[in-house]
Amino acid sequence: MTNTEPKPSWAFISVGANLGDRLRNCCLGIATLCADDRVRLAARAPFYETEPVDYTDQDWFLNTAIKVWTRLAPLDLLSHMQAVQAALGRQAGGIRFGPRTLDLDIIFYGDLILKSERLILPHPRLHKRRFVLQPICDIDPTVVHPALGVDVKTLLNQIPEGDQTIQPCSFDCSSFS
Ligand code: AMP
Repeated sequence: MTNTEPKPSWAFISVGANLGDRLRNCCLGIATLCADDRVRLAARAPFYETEPVDYTDQDWFLNTAIKVWTRLAPLDLLSHMQAVQAALGRQAGGIRFGPRTLDLDIIFYGDLILKSERLILPHPRLHKRRFVLQPICDIDPTVVHPALGVDVKTLLNQIPEGDQTIQPCSFDCSSFS
C-alpha cells in the first residue's frame, strides 16, 4: 500500500490586520488556521504595532508571525489561508498593499523555493520588511532564507536603522483562546 499522506513540513506565516478589531482578527485567524488538524501551531511571536509600508495612507497594522507544522501541500495551505481570510471578513480586490481585516502570507515553507502564478516561496518581499522579519526572529533568528543563504537575523540587520517603525505591544491572544 502506498502512503500518500505528505510528510509534515515547518512553515512560517506572517499575520497582520489594520481594519476592524485587529487583535480579534489576528487571534481568530490563527485559531481558525490551526483548527484544521493538518496545521499544528508550534510558536507564536509577540505582537507589534507597525507603520504601513508601500501604501502609507492607512492606519498602522498589528503584526505577528507563527511557526506551524503542516501536512498541507504549499498550495493547499495557501487556499486554506485564503478561506480563513475570507471568513474573517476580508473582501476580494481593494488597493494593493491597502487596508485589510486579516493578511496571512506564507513566508517560508521549509526550504522550498517555488515560483508559480499563485505562490512564490520564500515570500518575495520578506527580506525588505521589518514587520515580517522581527517576529520571525523572535521565534527563531537562525532560520536561513533558502535562496539568499543568510539567516533572518542578518536580513533584519540589513534594513536601514530608522526605516519602518515597529513597536512591541503587550497584546496577546489569551482572551480569544
Ligand atoms: P496579499 O494582498 O499580500 O494578501 O497578496 C495575495 C496574493 O499574493 C494572492 O493572490 C496570492 O496568490 C499571492 N501570493 C504569492 N506568493 C504568496 C505567499 N508566499 N504567501 C501568500 N500569498 C502569496
